[in-house]
Amino acid sequence: MSDSEQQADAPVVVAGAGPVGMTAALALDARGIDSTILEADPEDRDRPGSRAIYVHKDTLRTLEQSHPGLGQRLVDNGITWSTRRTLFRGKEVFARTYPDRGGDGGLPHFTSLPQVWTEEYMLDAIEESDGIDLHWDSPVDTVDASDDGVTVETEGGDVWEAEYVVGADGAGSTVRKEIGAEFDGTESPNSFIIADVDEDPDNPRKQERVFHYDHPELGGRNVLFVPFQGGWRVDIQCRESDDPERMAEEPNINRMVATVLGERYRDRVTWVSEYKFKQVTADRMVDDRNRVLLAGEAGHLFAPFGARGMNSGVADADAAASAISVALNADVRETADGEIAEYGIRRQKAAEYNRAAAGQALEYLQGDSIVTKTKKRLAAELADYYEPAGEWLDDAPYGPHEGPPVTIGQY
Ligand SMILES: Cc1cc2nc3c(=O)[nH]c(=O)nc-3n(C[C@H](O)[C@H](O)[C@H](O)COP(=O)(O)OP(=O)(O)OC[C@H]3O[C@@H](n4cnc5c(N)ncnc54)[C@H](O)[C@@H]3O)c2cc1C
Repeated sequence: MSDSEQQADAPVVVAGAGPVGMTAALALDARGIDSTILEADPEDRDRPGSRAIYVHKDTLRTLEQSHPGLGQRLVDNGITWSTRRTLFRGKEVFARTYPDRGGDGGLPHFTSLPQVWTEEYMLDAIEESDGIDLHWDSPVDTVDASDDGVTVETEGGDVWEAEYVVGADGAGSTVRKEIGAEFDGTESPNSFIIADVDEDPDNPRKQERVFHYDHPELGGRNVLFVPFQGGWRVDIQCRESDDPERMAEEPNINRMVATVLGERYRDRVTWVSEYKFKQVTADRMVDDRNRVLLAGEAGHLFAPFGARGMNSGVADADAAASAISVALNADVRETADGEIAEYGIRRQKAAEYNRAAAGQALEYLQGDSIVTKTKKRLAAELADYYEPAGEWLDDAPYGPHEGPPVTIGQY
């Protein structure tokens, strides 16, 4: 052994301390399995933007089961807006307010808070857990699986041995490349500008999710704004002929925010970015030896409509912990291998389902065929007399309501 070589006590190494890697470690801990997290970033890192604000009930439940109190902490610090509204060329075509937060088992249908807060609460949960060892500044460099286990080496030369590895190292995943998996899919032709805007504490807006088709004061572009605890997320759909970089610059973004949210929000923009959304899934979620499991953005990227990114990553993480738990307790190798292989099949199916669902939303939003445009215009005309037409306009930008086929985690 060289000086830098280390022996992990834990049977599982998790690559990445994003929300998915942290959930995997917590879900393993809940099953009595220790893990070592290797995270590339330094401890004092600055994570940008609100990102995954919409945390679905299933995610809350998984977090609550993985570390009692964690799901509830997200709820206590998030908001559950109760009104959704849609306007077509400035005219309201749908509005609905729900009497309560929905959900069951004490958890609401969803909660909305910045992803950095969710990560902070996960980190606290990890610090409270005895079985999770988190190493910052430890980018995973190589991953070698054999029939006996996995050897992971960091860029710094530290070597870790484990029974299983969860690759939760995000979109640019090294683990994905190391197991020879490849992304397959498409990219949206137009860009989207996403801005975070602080709430005005002296004069807060009503908490409602609002979608504008063809906003008349933004040159007919689609705009979505969604509240989260402490602020607003504004999504502006650019035209293919737009220059998104210039639109996202000051003072252009401030002017657009002032137009859609109100003048008092002009100087409250805290973060802006512009994206072309990728719609890709890995061609496999597990390596040849059934030792390495991809989870979250290491295995798939979706357009954000329908909030399938972090939510589906948390489902991957829980399913990975469940499969590893069964595999570690299996009497024979075939059972262990079968369980991990099954994880790969199920979560790949789930990823493909989610990609198709987010793709449906994206296609609907971008679709400028005569048929799509006519359907939207007719629905807007009918909405005054026929509520389902307005409801269709309100619903369609987020894709189907259903999630992928459910896999129940085992403890
Ligand atoms: C604008 C925007 C809006 C979004 N909105 C939503 C939403 O409303 N709802 C939703 O569910 N999702 C949303 N998402 C998606 C969500 O942010 C991601 O799905 C989520 O962050 C993915 O989590 P992850 O843990 O898989 O990856 P990441 O958050 O990217 O974490 C990966 C971690 O791995 C680390 N890492 C990278 N390489 C290595 C390495 N070699 N070794 C060790 N560590 C490594 C990284 O530093 C990072 O900490 C949104 C995303 C964006 C960009």
